[in-house]
Amino acid sequence: MPTYQADAVVLRRLQYGEADRILTLLTREYGKLGAIAKGARRARARSGGSLDLFSHSQMMLAKGRNLDVVAQVQRRGDARHIAGDLERTAYASLVTEVVDKVLEERHPVDEIFDLVVTTLDRLNMPERSSRADAAWFLMRILECLGYQPQLQNCAGCGRALPEADAWFSPLLGGLLCATCGARGQSGSPVSRNGVKVLRLMAAADAVLYDRLKLSTALLHEVELALEDQLEYHLDRRLKSLEFIRSIRP
Ligand SMILES: [Zn+2]
Repeated sequence: MPTYQADAVVLRRLQYGEADRILTLLTREYGKLGAIAKGARRARARSGGSLDLFSHSQMMLAKGRNLDVVAQVQRRGDARHIAGDLERTAYASLVTEVVDKVLEERHPVDEIFDLVVTTLDRLNMPERSSRADAAWFLMRILECLGYQPQLQNCAGCGRALPEADAWFSPLLGGLLCATCGARGQSGSPVSRNGVKVLRLMAAADAVLYDRLKLSTALLHEVELALEDQLEYHLDRRLKSLEFIRSIRP
């Protein structure tokens, strides 16, 4: 059987038969693909957690008739702090659910692969805020998909927006001025500081963003706007978000 190498992250996995697993992998070289790991459940010790959900590995795969077969795995990054924490697992599931939904099979997008690896690495660092890292991921994935929210001009009338309290409309795809926002739009309020944070995120200023001490209230405004924007454009509810909302304090 011909084989090939891939830099891969485990997005999903299913038990199959007595001891096998069917994996959905995100690979740098070939995009999203399905593969089977034979004996993975029996040989857990041998693969050493490399086939765990969210783990990042260098894999050798063999071409199969239906699914390709995982022949060798060498772990590149572990996900143990994600696995041991309900909130981190929930945010990592959001990352994998979104990319699984938006990517087509065997259609590699470098930018998205890098974003997934970076986000999962950050979610695996206990000292970092998983909520802040997940919000950053949402802004970046919206940008990759061409759905970045409009934050400088009113998404309703086009007037330049001052740095002031505003209203976020997923339907119109951005912030609204006081006049447009007052017309019973669906969406959510964003405070003046929320507007600042969203603009800083849109400018991809990661260093400054990392330094911010975001209050829970402020983080909530930001994530609500980005989550609504994403769900509106995907035209579906995300299961992971439903769960995240149920455990959010
Ligand atoms: Zn307006």
